[in-house]
Amino acid sequence: MAISFDTNHNPIVGKAERLEDDLVVITADNASPMTFTGTRSYVLGTDNLIIIDPGPASAEHFNSIMEYIGKRKLTDIILTHSHVDHSPLSRRLKNETGASIIGFGSADEARTNFMKRLSSSLDLGGEEGIDKELALDEKVYDKQFLDRNNYRFEVIHTPGHLSNHICLSVKEKKALFSGDHVMGWATTLISPPDGDLGSFIKSLEKLLTRDEKIYYPGHGKPLKEPKQMVLAQIAHRRDREKQILNSIAKISRTPEEIVDNVYIDLNPMLKRAAVRNVLAHLIDLYERGKVTVDEFSISAKFSKAI
Ligand SMILES: [Zn+2]
Repeated sequence: MAISFDTNHNPIVGKAERLEDDLVVITADNASPMTFTGTRSYVLGTDNLIIIDPGPASAEHFNSIMEYIGKRKLTDIILTHSHVDHSPLSRRLKNETGASIIGFGSADEARTNFMKRLSSSLDLGGEEGIDKELALDEKVYDKQFLDRNNYRFEVIHTPGHLSNHICLSVKEKKALFSGDHVMGWATTLISPPDGDLGSFIKSLEKLLTRDEKIYYPGHGKPLKEPKQMVLAQIAHRRDREKQILNSIAKISRTPEEIVDNVYIDLNPMLKRAAVRNVLAHLIDLYERGKVTVDEFSISAKFSKAI
């Protein structure tokens, strides 16, 4: 089954776009091949406001958000994860408004034990795009209910894209703020050691048992048939895994050689991301005993386990 993405999206940067009576999205001025049309900052509430993912440290985006807030009170800043296109503006917004910053914890502390071991002993590269200055006022945990203003959020820990990634469900809306875990324009980047493919698949499966009707992702349009997309993404990763195993069935290959072998029509600007994704698959396959390697590195040759 081929996965189909919706890449037709032309938001007006900096302008609050109404999604529901009490929900707007403001698109940041950071469009790129990795961030699509720019980070989407969601502002929830009518009087007291909550922002989800304030976005990158951009003066223009800060001004757009402050203009929308106007004389109202921003009470909380919730972060889906600590990538530089999602969390840095939290500090300036907090200074300006006094709102609390809420998130899961640092990317380092949220890594799995296997990834901690791997990253402390070996050269995996990666760690690009992590917001090193993340500062939280409140840490949340999986399955926690967070009551803020008139909303009850359920926190769902969804590691994979990043170890500290969470999705936030708002039950009365049947809506899920899905961050970079599930988006409609592309599959998410999984770059080890902070990205973890095994965790990512489990985090996708977690969403299958839930009943949200709409996802509001960190980039791109809302997803109106979110479960179909979750299923398609699980299938897509399984297909990719098969392609990788086929690619190394007869000869051992490096992640880059595998990319050249299995990615068709790849945008050259996305090649590095594809190499990271393949490395994530290989680490997951290694954990499951399906591939072998002498030593983990981005230039190591991986073989199929017999
Ligand atoms: Zn991200």
